[in-house]
Amino acid sequence: MTDYEAVIGLEIHAQLKTESKLFCGCDASYGAEPNANACPVCLGHPGALPVLNERAVEFAALLGMAIESRVNPVSIFARKNYFYPDLPKGYQISQFDKPICTGGRIALTRADGVAREIGVTRAHMEEDAGKSIHDRSDATLVDVNRCGVPLIEIVSEPDLRTAEEARLYVEKIRQIVRYLRICDGNMEEGSLRCDANVSVRPQGETELGVKTEIKNMNSFKSVERAVEFEIERQIDLIEDGGEVTQQTLLWDADRNVAVPMRGKESAHDYRYFPEPDLPPVALSEERLAEIRTRLPELPDAKRERFVSDYGLPDYDADVLSQSRDVAEYFERVANASGDAKAASNWTMGEVAREIRERKIEIAEFLLSPERLAEIIALVKDNVVSATAAKEVFVAALEEDKSPKTIVEERNLGQISDASELDEMIDQILKEHTVAVEEYLAGKEKAIGFLVGQAMRLSRGKANPQLLNKSLRQKLESMK
Ligand code: ADP
Ligand code: ZN
Ligand code: MG
Repeated sequence: MTDYEAVIGLEIHAQLKTESKLFCGCDASYGAEPNANACPVCLGHPGALPVLNERAVEFAALLGMAIESRVNPVSIFARKNYFYPDLPKGYQISQFDKPICTGGRIALTRADGVAREIGVTRAHMEEDAGKSIHDRSDATLVDVNRCGVPLIEIVSEPDLRTAEEARLYVEKIRQIVRYLRICDGNMEEGSLRCDANVSVRPQGETELGVKTEIKNMNSFKSVERAVEFEIERQIDLIEDGGEVTQQTLLWDADRNVAVPMRGKESAHDYRYFPEPDLPPVALSEERLAEIRTRLPELPDAKRERFVSDYGLPDYDADVLSQSRDVAEYFERVANASGDAKAASNWTMGEVAREIRERKIEIAEFLLSPERLAEIIALVKDNVVSATAAKEVFVAALEEDKSPKTIVEERNLGQISDASELDEMIDQILKEHTVAVEEYLAGKEKAIGFLVGQAMRLSRGKANPQLLNKSLRQKLESMK
């Protein structure tokens, strides 16, 4: 039996988070009443002239810098002509032979630990089309709000080899655009969309096989499943003596199958030509240098720094660097408390749990990093126990009060007072004579039981180190 190798190239469309559309002043945000955001420019009325949104250009350049593309000093908009109900203009303004970004690379690490580097062919700016809605009436409805919304299309080299790599690649792109704050990366709302080109070839073959293109995957899981499905379909087809034909497929996530949509147009069918109403996009050296100053530290660099600067375990650094907001929260807690590991534990533990349960983003999280750092300090200084600290944390989310005040008001302070502890220990020793005798007879383990009882008596508030020490001293003195 022949061994096959899959070849995958991805085209990702990321919606750039600008306030207005790419060539007009219409609101570009998601979720408005259908057809509320439209004007003669984005509808292509005769005589209406497009004006380029400079912010979108900066976002595109920033992406190029982040993925080590060459950001071209001059790029050109072109008309891509096709007829479709959701495209009122009859053409889409895109970039063709002179895109804003050329080349680039994305680093991935597979679950088996293998590091991969995926080439990026190009990234270009274009406007989005409208949306056809088929499931709300007998007729097909069209919503043009999305017409003219700025997109960056990122085209990979055919360097991906497995469905897992394809998913990781999309995840990485999403992470980067979110770090750059140029796209919210929401696959369900369509602000990040991915088309997968898939072919297979016998292992060792260097020519590319015939590819198909799958569209309509709106989650990472769908990307992985769709690619997996298509690889298997093509191999089975070839094994059965058939041939792969070039076509476009639609992923059906409910049924987990890809269904044929149409024979694929080739590029010349779009009759690309330079957009006559827009001048070339020029980026001076000074402007590029200025944009570069806004490039934030990227996820991989952050992860490595969290290990080298804060001494975090790889696992923590990986989890914390997933989102820029989470990473920045952690870092503020770490710096304010001086205890990076505690900051990491709290951020990955209690903070993450609250955010999950409240279904909010960390940006909306009410407890400031500085207050969390105060809670960490209270534990470190033995003012509160670890258990009580969690209670302080929950209370601090409800009331806008300092952790110290909460401890006082709720009487959550740890008991470190020697005479108070002694009193409790005496009571426990009196009540549990059997355990005491066992200890005196050499059964070391009995002390655990006695500590537990004293802890309970203190309602969890006894300072565990002091309690342990006093109890042991007392028992030893009875020997
Ligand atoms: P098209 O003209 O169909 O749009 P492109 O050459 O522009 O094709 O490539 C589109 C995407 O498909 C790119 O991501 C590219 O890496 C990928 N691709 C091209 N050829 C193949 C192939 N034979 N198998 C898998 N992916 C491919
Ligand atoms: Zn408009
Ligand atoms: Mg193409």
